[in-house]
Amino acid sequence: MKPKLVERRCPAQKDLCKALQACPVEGAITYVTDEEAPLGGRIIFDYDRCTECGNCAAECCGSAIEMR
Ligand code: SF4
Ligand code: SF4
Repeated sequence: MKPKLVERRCPAQKDLCKALQACPVEGAITYVTDEEAPLGGRIIFDYDRCTECGNCAAECCGSAIEMR
């Protein structure tokens, strides 16, 4: 199962994001700035790097990450 973001539940705050801190793999989950996003950024996954460990979903503050 891969982590999928439910964007309407995610405030995409780089400094507060527990999912970013929880990931053991460099670059599997990252924050990117996006001027079109409501708060100026988005959380994205790189599925080539992600090991599907589920840590990000377990730690996500807004229950915004689902393993599907
Ligand atoms: S912890 Fe979850 S809801 Fe909070 S910013 Fe990160 S991905 Fe979004
Ligand atoms: S499932 Fe694991 S490896 Fe993949 S982005 Fe989440 S914490 Fe990182």
